Amino acid sequence: MKRNIERINRLEQNSALPREELRALLETHSNEDSAHLFARARAVRESVYGKAVYLRGLIELSSFCKNDCLYCGIRRGNQNAQRYRLTEKEILACCQNGYSLGFRTFVLQGGEDAYFSDERMEPLVRRIRTEYPDCAITLSLGERSRRSYETLFAAGADRYLLRHETANAAHYAALHPPELQLQPRLDCLRTLKEIGYQVGCGFMVGSPGQTTDCLLDDLAFLKDFQPHMVGIGPFLPHRDTPFAKEAPGTLEQTLFMLGLLRLLLPEALLPATTALGTVHHNGRELGLLAGANVVMPNLSPVAVRKKYMLYDNKICTGEEAAECRFCLQRRVENAGYEIVSERGDHIRRQTAKIRSKE
Ligand code: SAM
Repeated sequence: MKRNIERINRLEQNSALPREELRALLETHSNEDSAHLFARARAVRESVYGKAVYLRGLIELSSFCKNDCLYCGIRRGNQNAQRYRLTEKEILACCQNGYSLGFRTFVLQGGEDAYFSDERMEPLVRRIRTEYPDCAITLSLGERSRRSYETLFAAGADRYLLRHETANAAHYAALHPPELQLQPRLDCLRTLKEIGYQVGCGFMVGSPGQTTDCLLDDLAFLKDFQPHMVGIGPFLPHRDTPFAKEAPGTLEQTLFMLGLLRLLLPEALLPATTALGTVHHNGRELGLLAGANVVMPNLSPVAVRKKYMLYDNKICTGEEAAECRFCLQRRVENAGYEIVSERGDHIRRQTAKIRSKE
């Protein structure tokens, strides 16, 4: 459909498109439209970041969670979930291993586990900051107080990942128990940005009850909020959750959203997520070819990997960190890109243009 090609071109030129035109794109695109979107997304990504793909080493520090999100395998109510916590020593060993494998960003992620209080996290972050002064420290520990975010920032954390999950309040309510609401989550994101963190938000594609309007709300929120990173991946059911029988999000829809995001936020860091690699064996390569520029290999000890089971059939739960690292390197190279051992901070397009003139 010529009109969709023209819409994609306008989205690229303006990094924006009116809501109704985005709706038309989402609802009427053909395979040729997708191919055009991905080609333009690659061109935009290469104009900002070249062929570089940044590495984030994921350390899953706890599978305990006080929350009961309906989609999540480590939700409080899942009696079958296997719970674990990494010790400080184990977390530091993951960093050391990661550093020797070329990682310059460590992502400390976990369920909302009161054990990882500020009293425990602050010295841990301080220690990682001192031992690895050239690395970025990313936290992904859910909703905390402003004071907590400030304390961890002062200790040396640079970035925070907190997916908004959906920008539509009614949809948020359908995915979460009543005590979890959209507004406090959005408040956390704004607070994190005010403090000075590089902030990542994001959502699952194809989550139960998600409509075109929900996706349009997500795109509008992201355009307005201007996060440094946007993590998206397909929703995948977990057998021990209320959404066990729900249909998964699809590869095609996730790739299409990635392409749109690249044109809407040219400078964003966009990971090709593990969930994308789970829904299709080449999902992460295809994600890179649709505009993604970050991969997040797992640095957690193999002994705990299967216990951080957010959804069924999660990949990369059996390999050592080094295997994951080199498997992803092959995948990135097969897609025509190149893993770089840099922190991979968010860059402004202006900077990229100046650099390319040098
Ligand atoms: N507790 C932290 C938080 O709330 O941000 C970080 C951990 S949480 C498990 C990380 C992300 O996993 C969530 O933001 C959610 O989008 C994703 N996730 C959870 N269950 C999922 C599922 N069934 N399918 C795909 N992604 C899922």
